[in-house]
Amino acid sequence: MIDDLQEEYDPQERVNEFYKLESEFWKHKRLEQMSKAEWEALCDGCGKCCLNKIEIKGKVYFTNAYCRFLDCKSCLCKIYDHRFEIVKDCRDINLEAVREKPRWLPKTCAYWLLDNGYDLPSWHPLITKQAASVKEAQMSLSGRNLINETKVKDYENYIVDWQDL
Ligand code: SF4
Ligand code: SF4
Repeated sequence: MIDDLQEEYDPQERVNEFYKLESEFWKHKRLEQMSKAEWEALCDGCGKCCLNKIEIKGKVYFTNAYCRFLDCKSCLCKIYDHRFEIVKDCRDINLEAVREKPRWLPKTCAYWLLDNGYDLPSWHPLITKQAASVKEAQMSLSGRNLINETKVKDYENYIVDWQDL
């Protein structure tokens, strides 16, 4: 059943639709003012929010254990339209999630950056018009030492301190 729902997505497909969006909308709109399409376009597709995290004494630690439904090649979710039905702790990336403390989104996440007064990085697909620029800048999970969460027993043994988390 779940196997039937899994799909492979081409990250460039959604980037090809960016021409429909208002030019540089993120420079003059707050997150609250963005349309659904604008909000979705802000996601750079890095995949880092799909790593498992643990909270110890009020601090969030990322592990290199990825959600079983992440496609590590494209860094996209294989069950995107069904993710909340299938994975109970999959979080909707909404304003509340972006502002939650302690921070659990990576510090390169476009939502967190804009909400904290930073601009988009030069490698963001909204600027480059290329989904691959995230991987080329080594900001996605692609090529990293990762482990499928199904093989992990104790997450504390998989904590990572990558600079971009
Ligand atoms: S961390 Fe942010 S930019 Fe990266 S995939 Fe998750 S929501 Fe998108
Ligand atoms: S189900 Fe959620 S956590 Fe898992 S890959 Fe999809 S979006 Fe990421």
